[in-house]
Order: sequence, then structure tokens, then C-alpha cells
Amino acid sequence: MDDPTLDCLIIGGGPAGLTAAIYLARFHLDILVVDSGKSRAAWIPCSHNHAGFPDGINGKELLQRMRDQACKYGAKIKTEVVTKLERDEDSGLFAVTWGSGCRQARTVLIATGVTNRRPPMDEDLHDEALARGLIRYCPICDGFEVTDKKVGVIGSDSHGVAEAIFLRGFTSDVTLIAPHGSLELTAEDQAKLKIANIQCVDGPAEAVAALDESIVVDTAEGHHTFDSVYPALGSDTHTQLAEMVGARLSGEGCVGVDSHQRTSVQGLFAAGDVVIGLDQISHAMGEGGVAATTIRNDLAKEKPFLR
Ligand SMILES: Cc1cc2nc3c(=O)[nH]c(=O)nc-3n(C[C@H](O)[C@H](O)[C@H](O)COP(=O)(O)OP(=O)(O)OC[C@H]3O[C@@H](n4cnc5c(N)ncnc54)[C@H](O)[C@@H]3O)c2cc1C
Repeated sequence: MDDPTLDCLIIGGGPAGLTAAIYLARFHLDILVVDSGKSRAAWIPCSHNHAGFPDGINGKELLQRMRDQACKYGAKIKTEVVTKLERDEDSGLFAVTWGSGCRQARTVLIATGVTNRRPPMDEDLHDEALARGLIRYCPICDGFEVTDKKVGVIGSDSHGVAEAIFLRGFTSDVTLIAPHGSLELTAEDQAKLKIANIQCVDGPAEAVAALDESIVVDTAEGHHTFDSVYPALGSDTHTQLAEMVGARLSGEGCVGVDSHQRTSVQGLFAAGDVVIGLDQISHAMGEGGVAATTIRNDLAKEKPFLR
């Protein structure tokens, strides 16, 4: 670990981490982004709700533009999986480890996002269906695109019910399918589905084929064909590195932060989906900008003039 101590090491190069990188590089700080290359934004075939792109933008293209912007101002980006985060109580410095590398940093931003749980189906079929909008994960983002279409939601608990009811605001043809066995719903959820006229189908559910403009789901009650299917099976939040240094988690199992993106550990910040499950690029970017500005101002308390 002979390299000079960084002002900030950002773990995660999605919209949150890259926005922070752009800001921090433009604050003339010495930073490094370490990213394992699995941003959820890379799955977006074309985002139509991201402001400033009236004709939509492909997720990979958006990420590339952000990387180019960060690098233009001096940010360095490394493709690695961070496996260990430690903090020295005496110096307050962090040690960040990946593969065969390790760097010391005054501050660390956790922008590691979440991973959606996928429905049981062939992986190639899943990826092809996702690229074609036959599988979708974000009704806030793309519910508009299924207006008046035939939609299936794979999910069993109140999360699945909430997603089905949200989608009912876009189309009257919504079916809730249990991923395994039968739907076990509370009386309240059953009443909500009845009022919304949402059909229910028992599982196990498996998406088996992507046709020209539809997707076929095999269920305990036979084949069902939909224009789009939304898996509502929850997600896994990547809080492990924050937990290694003792950061407090929120009630929702995300990294807990104050209104300036500071975690409970001094010098450790968090932004994006890892902090709140709103799952929006704009929100992740906003938190990245707030975190970066707080990091800059907190560092300036120790060293007021950074140049
Ligand atoms: C199919 C789909 C469509 C979507 N459509 C839209 C849309 O139209 N509009 C919209 O606003 N939002 C959309 N979203 C949501 C949006 O993609 C996310 O909200 C956004 O990407 C969150 O940004 P983030 O930076 O917090 O996390 P991410 O973009 O997920 O980035 C996290 C990064 O951290 C990295 N990472 C994790 N752990 C480590 C580690 N240990 N070491 C190094 N790197 C690590 C990952 O590889 C990843 O690159 C969509 C999501 C999906 C899945």
C-alpha cells in the first residue's frame, strides 16, 4: 500500500458512484472508483423517465457518458470487486482491499446498489426478454410503456400485491402469479386485488419462451401469455462492506445515513439504491451529489484549502 492516501475511494460505479466521482474530481480531490461492473442501470434497454433525454437513453450509454465525464476531470476507475473494508480507529483512515490490490483513503463512499431476485428461468432467455421489454423490473420507470397491455406480476407477498396494484394504474389487465405453490394473501390484500379486478394464478411459475411480442409463463394452471412480466421477488442490498466497519443499517436493511449521506461511521458515506429502495437513477445521482459535497466539506474542515 505504497500509493498516496486517497481523499475518497468510491465503491460502486453506477449512477450514484459516478455522479459523486464527477463532483469530487471537479473539487480537485484525489479519488478512485472501484467498480465490479454490474450496475443495474446497464440492464436498462431504454430509459424514458430520465430527465433530459426526451427520446430515452440506453443504460450502458448513460453509464459510459458518466464515466467519460468523471475521467475527463481526473477520476480513475478500476474494474475490481472490493472484498474487504477496514478502518483504523487511531488514524481514522480506511483500507480498501480487492483482488491483489489495496488502497488507503480518508473517506469512503459506498454506492454498491442492490441486485434484483430473478424468477426461475433460463438465464439467456431472461436476458433476451429483459432487453426486449418482455421482462421488466421497475414499474415506476416503465409502467407507462405497458399502458393498456396484458401484464403478469410474479410475486406472492404484500410486495407482489402492491406492485400489481401499482401497475393497475396503467392497465386493466393485470394478473398476479405465485412464484411457488398458491398465493397466501391476507384478507386485506385479497380485498384490494378484488376491488382492482386483478386475477390470481397459482405457481410454480416459470417464464418459458419469448415470442415476437409476448412472453409465455408456465404455471400450475397452464400457459399464460403476457405482453410484459414484472418479477416482484424483492432484491438483495449490498450492505456487507459497510457492515464490516460497523455501519448502522436502517429498518429496511439498507445502509442508514443522515440527510447529508453520512453513515454512523465517521468518514464513511453511502448513496443510491444501497441507501433507499426507490430505485431511480435521478435519486441515486442526487444522493451521489449530496454525498460528494459533504465529503468535500468534511475534508475541508481538516484542511481548509485543498490546493
Ligand atoms: C431493468 C431495469 C430497468 C430500470 N429502468 C430504470 C429507468 O428507466 N429509470 C430509472 O430512473 N431507473 C431505472 N432502473 C433503476 C436504476 O437502474 C437504479 O436505481 C440505479 O442503477 C441505481 O444506481 P446505484 O448507483 O445506486 O446502483 P447500481 O447502478 O446498481 O450500481 C452499483 C455498482 O456497485 C458495484 N458494486 C457492488 N458491490 C461491489 C463491490 N463489492 N466492489 C466493487 N463494486 C461493487 C456494482 O457492480 C455496480 O456497478 C432500472 C433498473 C432495472 C434493473
